[in-house]
Amino acid sequence: MTSARLPSIDRLLRSPACAPLQQRYGREALLGTLRDLLDELREPARHGQLAAIELSEAVLAGRAGERLAAHHASRVRRVFNLTGTVLHTNLGRALLPDEAIEAITLAARYPLNLEFDLASGKRGDRDDLITGLIRELTGAEAVTVVNNNAAAVLLALNSLGARKEGIISRGELIEIGGAFRIPDIMARAGVKLVEVGTTNRTHAKDYEAAIGPRSGLLMRVHTSNYSVQGFTASVATRDLAGIAHAHGLPLLEDLGSGTLVDLTRWGLPKEPTVQEALKDGADIVTFSGDKLLGGPQAGLILGSKELIGRIKKNPLKRALRVDKLTLAALEAVLGLYRDPDRLAERLTTLRLLSRPQADIQAQATRLAPLLAAQLGAGWAVAAEAALGMIGSGAQPVARLPSAALALRPQSNKRLRGRALRELEERLRGLPIPVLGRIDDDALWLDLRQLDDEAAFLAQLPLLAEGEA
Ligand SMILES: *Cc1c(COP(=O)(O)O)cnc(C)c1O
Repeated sequence: MTSARLPSIDRLLRSPACAPLQQRYGREALLGTLRDLLDELREPARHGQLAAIELSEAVLAGRAGERLAAHHASRVRRVFNLTGTVLHTNLGRALLPDEAIEAITLAARYPLNLEFDLASGKRGDRDDLITGLIRELTGAEAVTVVNNNAAAVLLALNSLGARKEGIISRGELIEIGGAFRIPDIMARAGVKLVEVGTTNRTHAKDYEAAIGPRSGLLMRVHTSNYSVQGFTASVATRDLAGIAHAHGLPLLEDLGSGTLVDLTRWGLPKEPTVQEALKDGADIVTFSGDKLLGGPQAGLILGSKELIGRIKKNPLKRALRVDKLTLAALEAVLGLYRDPDRLAERLTTLRLLSRPQADIQAQATRLAPLLAAQLGAGWAVAAEAALGMIGSGAQPVARLPSAALALRPQSNKRLRGRALRELEERLRGLPIPVLGRIDDDALWLDLRQLDDEAAFLAQLPLLAEGEA
């Protein structure tokens, strides 16, 4: 009897309350959602458990609207990375400069000369789009680009060392983020791993002794995410290249981050450059596009025409190649390196990495009282010096002097941990989630990367509401 109060799906669908939903999400999605909703309400309605208002068109449309909005919300969400780690792998690493974003838009919207030589009218090669720039910037003869540096290492190893031995120092058998381990990549590339030396010390004679008739290549890997300190020794690229070439073998160097400029110019820690590795005699150099280079996710493989030619003939190259959007962004980013004097203002990643501490401290001092006002009496908010990191394995022990908002709960010691976790969750639940880090009884929001201060401030009132 009471079930008659449940409106029919057709009536609901035609109701003025549902019209905007249909307009926005389409008839099909609306119909499915209304059906689910009515199905769930049928039993309670039959038992007279629902007030008439709960079955009104307006209320049902409102509930359907909430479900549709949640279901259709983008899973890709912008966040504020206030963790202090600039190149944060889990948060998307490098932020692209406007030049690259514009290049991506253009490449996405229009046909382009991806593999077409406009001068001759003949079929072209996608790597040629950046070959000239790479030559100009690094002196390398040739380049090929794949999906990421892991792919670059895999492809280079497989192309030059399959069914042969790859000689590498025990101190460089690294793991990066779990899934990328040099021994595993070597195995997958079909290269037989020959480890030489010890974890902390490897000498030229160790490599010499390991070279034999089955040797295919020597490899050097930048120990990006850990540091061997104390009683250590490793063989410099120049010396290793000498040994490799004396035996007619190529030297592969995986630089990891691989920067094209001397970062000390901007007060950053020294990181080996691509040019130095090439000048020192590495035959193949690989590095990431989205670490210190500040570009899109990509793996760059640089070297002689002959070796790059062999790499490009490998069928794996086709499986690992990059798309037009990546190449467009990469060309734009590389182009910025033509003017090193303006690089720090134009290349987003470098601008953030080189932001002076005093500047960040001033911002923290300015924002601290505003945040304190929103958080209320339960929290102390202080602008304090903090230490950030480059991230993505670049300079694991180096710290970037920065400044942060340190949020400390004023509750007694036992309750602090919970208060911190709750605040962390509230910040994460904001429309633009704010991600910081909990350390030493405080929640730290490192402001090095807070560019969009207006958007950050605009959502602070929601934080206060959350507490109510
Ligand atoms: C980061 C890194 C890689 C992997 O690079 P991706 O671009 O993340 O695939 C490989 N080798 C070294 C030394 C690295 O630091």
